[in-house]
Amino acid sequence: MKHHDIFQLKRGASPLVISIPHLGTIIPDDIIGSYNDEALQVADTDWYLDRIYAFASDLGATVIAANISRYVVDLNRPATGESLYPGMVTTSLCPLETFRGDELYRSGFTPDSQDVQRRIDTYWRPYHEALQQELARLRGRYANVLLWEAHSIASVLPRLFSGKLPDFNFGTSDGESCNEQVIASAIHPVRNTNISSVVSG
Ligand SMILES: [Zn+2]
Repeated sequence: MKHHDIFQLKRGASPLVISIPHLGTIIPDDIIGSYNDEALQVADTDWYLDRIYAFASDLGATVIAANISRYVVDLNRPATGESLYPGMVTTSLCPLETFRGDELYRSGFTPDSQDVQRRIDTYWRPYHEALQQELARLRGRYANVLLWEAHSIASVLPRLFSGKLPDFNFGTSDGESCNEQVIASAIHPVRNTNISSVVSG
């Protein structure tokens, strides 16, 4: 599979990189037969982000977006498979269930550790290498480069979180992924509007 089948990359010249790791809906032909009909709906895709971020090229942003579904391999998880949310229900590097807890694979067709490793090598690594290359290219030109990870999710998913999510959810990994000025300017446009927002870990 060629890189442009795994992800799409639009290069820009400004110090902003937008990564959209869950935009993909493709399950490759060689593994599609192992998924059940429910999985083929790819319901947990981060829908509409291509439209929501259509303005990004006008900003000169570099945009990297997955074509491969998160049901194949989750590009937003460490390749080591460690949990992003220790102690909480979450989906794994090669998820076996939907957000709602429904199985993704036909009986007897769940990926084994070799399958998982092959998916890391074939899909996960090229995406992250390209992302690193783009960051390195821009860091050669600017002192600071902002990597913005773009997601969307159903606002009500009782298995993963209680209640209904705010409209905008700014995750900062408990303040470690960006400085306060960056998050302050991200929130500014939605402060004092009727759009709800939260900054969380
Ligand atoms: Zn996502």
